Amino acid sequence: MSEDLKVADGQVIVMEYTLQVDGETIDTSAGHGPIEFIQGVGNIVPGLEKALYGMAVGESKDVVVAAVDGYGEMDSEAFMDVPRDQFPEDIPMEVGTQLELHDEADQPMVARIDQVGDTTVRLDFNHPLAGKELHFAVKIAGLRSATDEELDHGHVHSGHTH
Ligand code: ZN
Repeated sequence: MSEDLKVADGQVIVMEYTLQVDGETIDTSAGHGPIEFIQGVGNIVPGLEKALYGMAVGESKDVVVAAVDGYGEMDSEAFMDVPRDQFPEDIPMEVGTQLELHDEADQPMVARIDQVGDTTVRLDFNHPLAGKELHFAVKIAGLRSATDEELDHGHVHSGHTH
């Protein structure tokens, strides 16, 4: 590993980070250890990835990412009214309750209860961070070149292969 290595496409980045939204810390590597990802392949939100280019090991930065470069704007179409009697009885009918559902292709989807009516429940399929400005504090903890296999798969292999 070279001393003057900088964040560039095809590098595996080891990064400490804290994410704040609306002044609240909602995610942090503190206590879990840094995350590892490949730069330039969309492993992280585009606005943050863009801001990391050229950073060196040990360097810290505060990055503000607009919603459009983060988890996207709120999509007013991403809501669905579902008859109340289609929900299992053990699901609390409360605004904010998060549900895990499967679409027709059996892909998992997450939705939150947005409104509870007398006969229908409105589900919100937007990402919970859609429409939010993201405030990251990051520190580059390590850098190395991705292997050909990692580049091929589009993700980091740490201690395993598949
Ligand atoms: Zn893989």
